[in-house]
Amino acid sequence: MFMNILAAIAALMLISGSAAGAQEYPTKVITMAVPFAAGGPTDTVARLIAGPMSKTLKQQVIVENVGGAGGTIAANRVAKAAADGYTLLIHHIGMSTAPALYRKLPYDAINDFEPIGLINEVPMTLVAKKDFPAKDLKELIAYVKANKDKVNYANAGLGAASHLCGMLFMTAIQTDVTTVPYNGTAPAMNDLLGGQVDFMCDQTTNTTSQIKAEKIKVYGVTTLKRVASLPKVPTLDEAGLKGFEVTVWHGLYAPKNTPKPVIDKLTKALQDALKDNNVKQRFGELGAEPVALDRATPEALRKHLKAEVDKWSPIIKKAGVYAD
Ligand code: ASP
Repeated sequence: MFMNILAAIAALMLISGSAAGAQEYPTKVITMAVPFAAGGPTDTVARLIAGPMSKTLKQQVIVENVGGAGGTIAANRVAKAAADGYTLLIHHIGMSTAPALYRKLPYDAINDFEPIGLINEVPMTLVAKKDFPAKDLKELIAYVKANKDKVNYANAGLGAASHLCGMLFMTAIQTDVTTVPYNGTAPAMNDLLGGQVDFMCDQTTNTTSQIKAEKIKVYGVTTLKRVASLPKVPTLDEAGLKGFEVTVWHGLYAPKNTPKPVIDKLTKALQDALKDNNVKQRFGELGAEPVALDRATPEALRKHLKAEVDKWSPIIKKAGVYAD
């Protein structure tokens, strides 16, 4: 009996202690895990918002690159981290495709996280190395079909946006080519620039400057509307792949059961970052669109993630692509 009372008092102290901790939050550095390599598109978004978020939170938000397995290693790490607001995950559309792609995903994308808010939407571009023989989408399709045994496609692993886009492209043209997986599309872009791989599909946040400098070839954007920062580049839909559409979106997450006051502070910091002039300007230059502030909320991200899981799962199942 006495032991039970002691246990109850200890439990109460723990709860009120963590509530007090939540009120004081943050008292130390916050780590934002990026599921891909430094210098790539997700990393770029993370580093852009980390600065203004640090200002609002009055604590440094540092970015840690935890690449591998198409983004699932970072997501798993954050799913299992302490629910105290000091370990966060920034992830993109891959959060919604991994559940269908991995038969044994070690985390639950919907139930193991507290959503903080949506961040932005980013188009992708289908690009190739500079001396790739095809000059437009029509020629690219014909060339890939005729040379499927020697052409290769770079991506950031099963679960990356670059994987999804490549899978949709290969399904659309009914031709499979060899894929070369990287820890992120920053190293993939290096190899594309060096001519070691032939083509890939990647966010405008990583491809815009290389396209503008004509260091790579571009065949189209993956959104149904042209991208303001690349006005001359056609959409893949208008160039011949009718209905082809991938819009990458980023969201920010904390581990499940992170206290609500902590999530509220993080949501406010995210919203402040999206209002920041430098963030707005850089997003614009890189073709990314910040979400409206009422979508930079836990409810909007929860809803969007669920809708995207429901959208991509049947498409992936139909394509028959799986990892164990
Ligand atoms: N965004 C890239 C992809 O999903 C990965 C990265 O950010 O490096 O392919």
